[in-house]
Amino acid sequence: MTPHNAYRSLADARPYPFWQETRPPTIIAPRLTGDVVCDIAIVGGGFVGLWTALLARQRWADATIVVLDAGQCGGEASGRNGGFCAPSISHGVSNALKRWPEEAEQLVRLGRENLVAFEEDLQRFGMDVAFERSGKLNVASQPWQVEGLRAMQKNYGRFGIDCEFLDAYELKSRLDSPAYIAGVFEPNYALLNPVKMVSELRRVCLEQGVQLFEHSPVTDLQAEGSQQRLQTGMGSVKAGKVALATNIAPPLLGALKSAVIPIYDYALTTQPLDDDQLWAIGWVGRYGIADSGNQFHYLRKTEDNRILWAGYDAIYHYGSRRDEALTQRPESFVILARQFQLAFPALADVTFSHAWGGIIDTSARTTMFCGTASSGRVAYAQGFTGQGVSASRFAALTMLDLLDGTSTERTKLAMTSTPPFAFPPEPFRYMGVSMAQRSLAREDLTGHRDWLLKGLDALGIGFDS
Ligand SMILES: Cc1cc2nc3c(=O)[nH]c(=O)nc-3n(C[C@H](O)[C@H](O)[C@H](O)COP(=O)(O)OP(=O)(O)OC[C@H]3O[C@@H](n4cnc5c(N)ncnc54)[C@H](O)[C@@H]3O)c2cc1C
Repeated sequence: MTPHNAYRSLADARPYPFWQETRPPTIIAPRLTGDVVCDIAIVGGGFVGLWTALLARQRWADATIVVLDAGQCGGEASGRNGGFCAPSISHGVSNALKRWPEEAEQLVRLGRENLVAFEEDLQRFGMDVAFERSGKLNVASQPWQVEGLRAMQKNYGRFGIDCEFLDAYELKSRLDSPAYIAGVFEPNYALLNPVKMVSELRRVCLEQGVQLFEHSPVTDLQAEGSQQRLQTGMGSVKAGKVALATNIAPPLLGALKSAVIPIYDYALTTQPLDDDQLWAIGWVGRYGIADSGNQFHYLRKTEDNRILWAGYDAIYHYGSRRDEALTQRPESFVILARQFQLAFPALADVTFSHAWGGIIDTSARTTMFCGTASSGRVAYAQGFTGQGVSASRFAALTMLDLLDGTSTERTKLAMTSTPPFAFPPEPFRYMGVSMAQRSLAREDLTGHRDWLLKGLDALGIGFDS
């Protein structure tokens, strides 16, 4: 397979997320000018911020709620992701068992309940987000990954989670690719269209009287007696309570400076495929698929039967650089295109319609965490590490519990209430991430987990996207 095939396949790829083509017509909200007073101010209009606004409205019917976004709602991770909507808040069952064995059962249950409640909320608020509970196929490309799938099946069995192990022959009826040798299919997993999700959340929030200001970056947050003052370039908000849902942007609280690092992740979508093309690779259902490497791919069908093919490269830039220009990375797009052609030789002539990237807020435990500042008047949630579509709703509820001052099952979890291991300053941060990435890539080739990864495991530190 020559790189020219990959270059050719990318020649017409548009440099922005395919999902944007499906965005319903939207009138941009005004900038904040002047001074506004409210009960709750929410900084960030992605999934976390908008769920927080919507669920705050259900909890406090008469509260004045303001959402401020630096750009347009959904302009960052929430509008760029794969739309895999997991029945998990802990980045999967195995991660829960590894990091919080004592509360794993609770985390697994809460994750499943959250997905049920998520779907109920979609129905309750009439949100049309192309939600489909079509399942997920986890596939292995190396013999040692097959052992990982067997362990996954065992862990699922422990919690009564339905799944089916597929050997090489059985896998062909779900996915026919020379790259994969076994699989585990789990029926309880959902997919959605992320741009429709964020647009629908935004619409319902506006209908429910939430005040939204876009292109209004908050530059400063200070306590003023029992109130909080948020400063934007052209105005300010005085709020009784504040929820910070700024994901990977430079945090407004100094204490969060080293809690997460920005990892760039890349995605392609093909042109729409017809039934014959999909039959040729044995992908008969609408389930999502992910392979089992440390550097893993995730793939799914869009509503018009494009294949979204993403992941593998996870890029960290020195100094935790955040820059929109870095979300276009031709080297990563070419790697992805070549890998697609190797995984699906029957689709070698298929071209890509869109190529984009986004930033993942990677925490050292690969799961979200929450906390408060300013005597409980400010709450925050971040650290989703590539699994925030469904967990964003849980995070929103946890922040509201914290702002309410009520101790709940959500706020008492070690996962939500203890901070993750802080990333060291540069140059150690860059050196550490690079070394861990090299070890993970070696493990993908050989199945051998080296001393560095074992040491990090022992300290409860992980690296993922
Ligand atoms: C390429 C990619 C693929 C992914 N795939 C999946 C997937 O398939 N499944 C899954 O579960 N998760 C996935 N994720 C992760 C998921 O998208 C995120 O966890 C989730 O969107 C986080 O939502 P958020 O609201 O915290 O962040 P964001 O969507 O980033 O929203 C934060 C918002 O805050 C605003 N903001 C920041 N600072 C300020 C400020 N100072 N003032 C005002 N506004 C501010 C930003 O403009 C932004 O709109 C993926 C992420 C990426 C990047």
